[in-house]
Amino acid sequence: MHFFELKDGVLHAEGVSLETIAEQVGTPTYVYSAGTLRRHYGLMRDACDAHKGALGEALIAFAVKANSNLSVLKVLGAMGCGADTVSEGEIRRALKAGIPASKIIFSGVGKTDAELAFAIQQGVRQINVESSTELQRLIAVVKSLKQDPTVSGRVANPDVAIRVNPKIGAGGHAKITTGGAGDKFGVPVEEALDLYAVASSSEHVNPVGLACHIGSQITDLTPLENAFKVIRGMTETLREQGHTVTRLDLGGGLGVPYYGETNTPPPADYIAMVAGVLDGLNVEAAFEPGRLMAANAGVLLSRVVHVNERTDGRRFLVLDAAMNDLMRPALYEAFHDVKPVRPVDGAALPHDIVGPVCETGDTFARDRELAPLKADDLVVFMSAGAYGAVMGSEYNTRPMAAEVLVDGGRWAVIKPRPTYEDILSREPIAEWL
Ligand SMILES: *Cc1c(COP(=O)(O)O)cnc(C)c1O
Repeated sequence: MHFFELKDGVLHAEGVSLETIAEQVGTPTYVYSAGTLRRHYGLMRDACDAHKGALGEALIAFAVKANSNLSVLKVLGAMGCGADTVSEGEIRRALKAGIPASKIIFSGVGKTDAELAFAIQQGVRQINVESSTELQRLIAVVKSLKQDPTVSGRVANPDVAIRVNPKIGAGGHAKITTGGAGDKFGVPVEEALDLYAVASSSEHVNPVGLACHIGSQITDLTPLENAFKVIRGMTETLREQGHTVTRLDLGGGLGVPYYGETNTPPPADYIAMVAGVLDGLNVEAAFEPGRLMAANAGVLLSRVVHVNERTDGRRFLVLDAAMNDLMRPALYEAFHDVKPVRPVDGAALPHDIVGPVCETGDTFARDRELAPLKADDLVVFMSAGAYGAVMGSEYNTRPMAAEVLVDGGRWAVIKPRPTYEDILSREPIAEWL
């Protein structure tokens, strides 16, 4: 559920008209609803709190890569949400937004030594180790920090979880499946058990548990349940071998309705399923939802440049937003509902919705039925709050979309659109030219 609704014939984000935002900030602009973010966090929090017996004091760590805007992180952090991060930059964002290091998880297949050192020194909650080579590098980094006279204070052994690839992939598209046997994430079950033993015997890391994340936009709980059963079995095996396992990080991946889908499991059902699998295990769970929290909390607001009614019968709605602003359709053939900000009368016609970028891939939708729109009309791409702005680029030297946060009747620009001067001044011309 979200708070983008028609009021007096105009689409609003909570109490603010999207026409007002378009007039004052221009387009394309991402608009986020703080109330929707809070609602989504609240649903997850309530579901976890209802199953404390099985999940402990579960940590909900927002996957920062879905939407890393500082104000978005601040809204969630203020509610007690943690952060799942995949780079030093994301850790820095989470910290700047006030999320304590004790709630920050550091994941990713290619963390550099410098990034590991940064995370260790910040004292993040947990580093999710994804390979044996990474574990060796992590141990070496901790050791060298301990020996480094320029590092002030005691360097604590980082808590680590081993990321398991359970050979169960799932998700809305091959490019967002991460738990399949051939995917680059994590290590197979046997290797994970071995790595746990290596970590246990090291003087420099503190293994606390296992992690898994099998994919994104998952609409069927079965593959998730099967993966979590694998994790449960491994926990029991590790304990039989004498290891301590206190935390299980179950990743994110729950799908959201992009358009009228009714098959997306409610968070409460998902959490109840997890509680059933972990029952009696006496562990603390962590969840890393990204899309679930942010997708339906944001829209991309865009203006129609013109309508190209070709003589071959195709009708192109040419927008001022393009693939550089919202890459998901080009990258994953993703579906976004497109709505007029001020609905118009008239029989629906098939439109091809495109941006101005010089790529055929810059096509958001084909044959989408819409009432006839004309130049200067405003439209929104719904469900654009996750994996939208974060994937933006300046391809075709198009200034990146602005970002706005609405909170009840208040709103603020939380990332201004750069000027052309900003863009050009970032590139010093080689002095001999
Ligand atoms: C991307 C990612 C997530 C979030 O996935 P969603 O589908 O957005 O919930 C969680 N954990 C890890 C390790 C990820 O890479």
